[in-house]
Amino acid sequence: MELLHCRSVADVVAAVKSGRRLVPRGGGHCFVDRTSAADVVLDLSGLHTIAVAHDGVATIGAGALLGQVYGELHNVGRALPAGCGPTVGIAGLTLGGGIGLVGRKYGLTCDRLVGAQVVLADGSVVECDADREPDLFWALRGAGGGQFGVVTEFRFKTIAEPMMTRIAADWAAPNPMEIAQAWQVWAPDAPDDLTLNLTVDGAQAVLIGASLLPLEPTRALLAEFTSLAGTAVPFVLHADVPLSEVKASFADATPSETAEMHSEFFDQPLTGELAGRMAFTAMGGAYNRVATDATAFAHRNERFLLESPAAYANGSGHVYPNFPDLTLADGPTAYHGVNLARLRAVKQVYDPDRFFDFPQAV
Ligand SMILES: Cc1cc2nc3c(=O)[nH]c(=O)nc-3n(C[C@H](O)[C@H](O)[C@H](O)COP(=O)(O)OP(=O)(O)OC[C@H]3O[C@@H](n4cnc5c(N)ncnc54)[C@H](O)[C@@H]3O)c2cc1C
Repeated sequence: MELLHCRSVADVVAAVKSGRRLVPRGGGHCFVDRTSAADVVLDLSGLHTIAVAHDGVATIGAGALLGQVYGELHNVGRALPAGCGPTVGIAGLTLGGGIGLVGRKYGLTCDRLVGAQVVLADGSVVECDADREPDLFWALRGAGGGQFGVVTEFRFKTIAEPMMTRIAADWAAPNPMEIAQAWQVWAPDAPDDLTLNLTVDGAQAVLIGASLLPLEPTRALLAEFTSLAGTAVPFVLHADVPLSEVKASFADATPSETAEMHSEFFDQPLTGELAGRMAFTAMGGAYNRVATDATAFAHRNERFLLESPAAYANGSGHVYPNFPDLTLADGPTAYHGVNLARLRAVKQVYDPDRFFDFPQAV
């Protein structure tokens, strides 16, 4: 398999027109290997420029990585709600959704997308947004990874970079499962300004989070959680930290990429015995104030995302497209739910010969 470095849109067009089966690569962090059936991996890292206009719209090349995005936006006082890993590609993250520490306030990364430039399977270059190629624009926001075309450029409505209170706690907890129970009740309903994520691994409990509120109101909110958990949580809070710095400081808080881990959304607390390593990400807030069919991202009624070695009987059956899992019986339904039929229709229009394809594609 050939690794082809693209430095321009013309390079991407030439690669697509060559007719060889290709897989686009942004940050290269896809949890499953989608390259084995490809002739060419299209490395887009050469397309990484970032420019911010006066109206706050950022034009970002598809090869940019999150660390670079946060850094360059910070330099002009702007930010995007997005994930933590600095080497994660803005492309893969956005095209599958984009969950992060200010998402409960500002939505998914893909919810901030206002336009994109795409090279289609026939080698044509199209601009898509709410008015131009609206079905393609809809599909890219939650189901766009590698299956409708090669995105060369994204346009995002940025936010003013907020100053935040950074939240962390890492301790051997006497009652980790009670903490997990309390978290499931409290964190998904916390005010949008505060996000608190939990990992429990044996007796070890780790909380990471961020709040758009100053120190004292943040402390007061966390006291509610502590009281529910019935234990003293050794929170360490740092106030007045720019979002980009909070993100950089949580660079190591990564999802598990091992084949033994499964992930699923939940719209209610877990039933059954809690066991093993469990990583809970709070949903709710702005994520859920977007209609399920407004974008291709179908998971708009969930309370949290869980990564764990075990499956729980009361899971929603819905799976985050950015945490793909080849063991799923019906991946496309799990990833796209009620939006799958429309996605298949869009696929039929933009890529009827399945030039862009992989196991579990729509
Ligand atoms: C360390 C780490 C931290 C993470 N943290 C978060 C987090 O906080 N929040 C979150 O939501 N997710 C997170 N994730 C998951 C992440 O969103 C996915 O792994 C995502 O797919 C990575 O995108 P990528 O560009 O790096 O990967 P890639 O492997 O390059 O791309 C992923 C998919 O998108 C396709 N693709 C890539 N570029 C394009 C393009 N230009 N046009 C069309 N298709 C394209 C690829 O073909 C592939 O199918 C994290 C992952 C890791 C490894």
